[in-house]
Amino acid sequence: MAEAGARVALVEKRSKPDAYKVTCTHAILPAGAATIERLGLAPLLYEHGALRTGSEVWTPHGGWVTVPHDEQLGWGVTRQTFDPLIRDLAINTPGVEFLPGWTAKQVLGTGPALLDVENRNRRRRVISTTLLVGADGRESSLARLAGVPGRVLPHNRCFYFAYWRGVQPKTGSIRVWLIDPIGGGAQFPNEDGLTMLVTGFRRAQIPQVRADPEGWYLRRLGELPDGPDLREAERVSKVMGKLEMPNVIRLRSRPGMAFVGDAAVACDPVFGVGISFALLSGEWLADITADALGSGRNLEGALASYRRQVLGRLGPHYLQMASYSSGRAFNPAERLFLRRAAVDPVVRRGFGQFLVRQRGPLALANPRLLSRLLKPRPDSTGQRPVPADLKSPQPELATEPTPDRRVKEAA
Ligand SMILES: Cc1cc2nc3c(=O)[nH]c(=O)nc-3n(C[C@H](O)[C@H](O)[C@H](O)COP(=O)(O)OP(=O)(O)OC[C@H]3O[C@@H](n4cnc5c(N)ncnc54)[C@H](O)[C@@H]3O)c2cc1C
Repeated sequence: MAEAGARVALVEKRSKPDAYKVTCTHAILPAGAATIERLGLAPLLYEHGALRTGSEVWTPHGGWVTVPHDEQLGWGVTRQTFDPLIRDLAINTPGVEFLPGWTAKQVLGTGPALLDVENRNRRRRVISTTLLVGADGRESSLARLAGVPGRVLPHNRCFYFAYWRGVQPKTGSIRVWLIDPIGGGAQFPNEDGLTMLVTGFRRAQIPQVRADPEGWYLRRLGELPDGPDLREAERVSKVMGKLEMPNVIRLRSRPGMAFVGDAAVACDPVFGVGISFALLSGEWLADITADALGSGRNLEGALASYRRQVLGRLGPHYLQMASYSSGRAFNPAERLFLRRAAVDPVVRRGFGQFLVRQRGPLALANPRLLSRLLKPRPDSTGQRPVPADLKSPQPELATEPTPDRRVKEAA
């Protein structure tokens, strides 16, 4: 928005320059990669050792599905690195006034909005603004203060996770195991050799898991088929968990007000979409409102277009993920797609684009893909296939040389 000429007050309740979101496993899908490039964030991520990641999913219905590597790659980077970088980029953009340590306390009016904010010393200040953007996460306090409820679909999955070093195989891919009804897990590579290992479970299992979270976490990791080898690995963080993650979508707003990121659409994290959807929705809002903010005309029309865009592009993903987060098993159509995607390059490409959220679930209704589902099914052993259309089933660690490394390599 500031790049398009707006004056932006960025209110952030956390005051530390290195603040970051801890409760996140932070795999960034290809769907968010173009926004990262456009923001100028990509070179900074490379400088800090972030990885470009491929994507692989294991299910009992056909084994591994590896998204073809010529699709755009995602990013592997911890929030500890990512959050300060993207915040610095924002606050150093001309036109942005940063208010660290200030918390939104009251919405005194909307269209134009009056926002009452307070800092740690209980000093208060009222900000008057043409457009008030709630970018304040899943439990959006701005939504609550402005009386804008979200539609909630229940979730039935929880996650425990921790950071590791020395995990084998060293992979440049996001690897996710979707195993029903027990849950599954994930392996996400990041900068500095840090691997995030995640295990999932159903809410009904909470009492069992709580009795011995660490033991349960390790046992489940050990049970993942073709899972990570931890014999030489060291866990370098405590085991963290998150139990409450309802799926929330906010379809309405107030005049002169919009929501982005989790405040607009918060999904169950099993498919790792949250950061990408936050980047995308922020980009859409900035683009769609740029003219209206510049000219002072028809902001409400622009905000209605933005809400339609979020609903049309992210709504189908939201429904698919909310449905799966109920803890249900894969339905027959999903099982068929998974089995065929493991062995058929055309289905793999189409299904892969959906998995990394570059296409919506409705794109799977393409007649070309559907006709291939009906072909006779080769035996599937659940072993990792080596598909002919892939150079290797697991990409090399796909980090691009940082400027420093380029200089050293050239020397
Ligand atoms: C267990 C778990 C695992 C996840 N794993 C992944 C994953 O692998 N990949 C992925 O893409 N996503 C994942 N997510 C989702 C991801 O964390 C979120 O989608 C993402 O952080 C949303 O970004 P956001 O900017 O909308 O909100 P947030 O990152 O929550 O940021 C909100 C900001 O608003 C500030 N704020 C809040 N209230 C106020 C207030 N009243 N006044 C001022 N400031 C305020 C906060 O301090 C914070 O800085 C996971 C989530 C969970 C819970």
